[in-house]
Amino acid sequence: MKITIVCEKNFLMESEEGKRAYPEGMDNCLASVFRAAGHETALVRAGEDGVPDLDDALLESTDVLVWWAHVHHGAVADDIVEKAAMRVLRGMGLIVLHSAHFSKIFKRLLGTSCSLTWREDGELERLWCVDPAHPVARGLGGFIDIPQEEMYGEPFDIPVPDELVYVGWFEGGEVFRGGCVFNRGRGRIFYFNPGHETYPTYHIPAVRRLLVQAAEYVAPRGEIVPPIDGVHRPGFSVPLRGKRE
Ligand code: ZN
Repeated sequence: MKITIVCEKNFLMESEEGKRAYPEGMDNCLASVFRAAGHETALVRAGEDGVPDLDDALLESTDVLVWWAHVHHGAVADDIVEKAAMRVLRGMGLIVLHSAHFSKIFKRLLGTSCSLTWREDGELERLWCVDPAHPVARGLGGFIDIPQEEMYGEPFDIPVPDELVYVGWFEGGEVFRGGCVFNRGRGRIFYFNPGHETYPTYHIPAVRRLLVQAAEYVAPRGEIVPPIDGVHRPGFSVPLRGKRE
């Protein structure tokens, strides 16, 4: 499986807390999740200048696109968003992480504001599995504890998920639909809330296993078909055999 990770570089990652959480860089940590599982993984950096290296050739060879962003959503060019969204509709998998709930591609594919309530207090998040038979949750038990995470709470302005796998609970008492699957066209999207850039969430073994299983789950189930453009068929008819005059 070919995985492409779009990961933003922002000033919070350069802070003391950010460097402590990810001495190797959060982008490299995320890439290591999928590389350790044997998947060919390309890492594309996003920032103030958008996502310059997500070109057509890379996108068209991608089976699963992973998107992490926070500060620079607005810098992502609309044509890149549209091409990536169309490829999801044609069958590519998409994993949207944490603050990428506000990314253009997620809002484009879901059609709602994707807004939520939040608080950055480094609280424990307990992610309860509400669908123990779901492939994304395989072997991960009844819940996953994230010792420190940014609180994301309901109401989360998304369409009703096609599959709800995890509900997060925070020490403030809030709950959140933190692990959801959406089917769009021939593609599958998995949203996962943990992963604030100053907490070492993507080092947690259960989270790493979950992300790999999510990639395997949203991966294309067959060929990624070409776009279906409005085909004009003037005068077209299929001759009928054995039709009685
Ligand atoms: Zn965050």
